[in-house]
Amino acid sequence: DQEQWHIALDFIRYISESGLEAYIVGGAVRDYYLHRPVHDFDIVTNASRSDIEKLFTHVITPTHRFNTWIVRWYGLLFEVTPYRSKAKWLEEDVKLRDFTINSLAVDKTGVMIDTLNAKEDLDNGIIRTIHPDKRFSEDPLRIMRALRFVSQLEFKIEYTTWHACLCQQSQLETVPVERIQAEIVKLLAGNKHSDALYLMFFYGFPTYFPERIQVSPKDSSKKRYNMNRLQQSIEKWSAFMWLLYKEDAKFYCKQWLLPKRDTKKIQSILKRCSRYPESIPWDETLIYETGEMLALQTERVHQWLKGTKSNKRLQYISSVYYSLPIKSRKELFMNGRDLLELFPDIKKEEIGHYLNVLELAVIRRNIPNKKAELAAYIKEKRLNER
Ligand code: ATP
Ligand code: MG
Repeated sequence: DQEQWHIALDFIRYISESGLEAYIVGGAVRDYYLHRPVHDFDIVTNASRSDIEKLFTHVITPTHRFNTWIVRWYGLLFEVTPYRSKAKWLEEDVKLRDFTINSLAVDKTGVMIDTLNAKEDLDNGIIRTIHPDKRFSEDPLRIMRALRFVSQLEFKIEYTTWHACLCQQSQLETVPVERIQAEIVKLLAGNKHSDALYLMFFYGFPTYFPERIQVSPKDSSKKRYNMNRLQQSIEKWSAFMWLLYKEDAKFYCKQWLLPKRDTKKIQSILKRCSRYPESIPWDETLIYETGEMLALQTERVHQWLKGTKSNKRLQYISSVYYSLPIKSRKELFMNGRDLLELFPDIKKEEIGHYLNVLELAVIRRNIPNKKAELAAYIKEKRLNER
């Protein structure tokens, strides 16, 4: 909004006061022009790192981008980059960026500098690269960025740019998976993800992703790629893994470098989806073991891959979960120490087993969650086992 923009202009004015140059560039200017929310500001400058450190107290170097410094200023994040290697001034820097739509710059007086006719492409919704063959071989990740902008901005890729994307697509093999992944995460979050995924799969880009997936264009209709009913990003990522690897997805999704916690959940979702191709037999035990959130996520992904819609099944999961007598083992009125006190002859390695038995009996409502009943149940169980 206007307020953020004023702070950003102040930021480059402040740098200019010491005789240096600075411009706002990239995604922030593009999004401002499109009236889309801006989350961080890219700045180019002729200042050196030590110049910046003299001007600002909090300068961070991110691990993934070595030549960028992050500065926090009046609550906003600024990614400050020196002019790209060969470029000594703005016009050169702007030509080295990925697409015309990202080439707008704003100077300290607030004037927009548009050397590559970016505004026209923004008005027409066009993703265009100048000298595309060169641009994409320099950094093949730009191919994935083009697809990401199809989804995020709802733009179309200009013909010669798209042609170059196709010619250079095998270069994607050389791009570290985490860079590709970051673009796919943004792609999946975008409104037109189904258009972008359709292009990606129809034209065989996944051939150059980890595990070299061969996709046959025959089984792909645009509708297949619509993930609008999926809510969280891990649901969308699970669906994406399914598109890539089908039943084997749970083995292969480790090739991607999502946070461990997410990977675990995604694997659990994918495991259930391949184990129960028709429908997942949710009952008290399965819902208890899975937990409400993950069960709902799993069911939504499953419905997506079956192409069905059933809010009833989702509501069923929630209501079963709600009425479970306990939500976790911690709520059981018996723990390992209690068991040892009651049955001093019990072997340590049996404790886990008995707690499991109690847990299941309580969830299935065979016994109430009360200490006396739990103890009696184990006592009888042990007699029977003799
Ligand atoms: P958003 O921040 O909304 O995801 P963005 O366009 O700002 O999108 P960033 O990855 O933050 O994307 O990059 C900032 C700017 O740096 C881009 O607008 C672009 O001008 C330039 N840029 C980023 N990656 C590349 C690249 N691989 N090749 C060329 N220029 C790039
Ligand atoms: Mg950005």
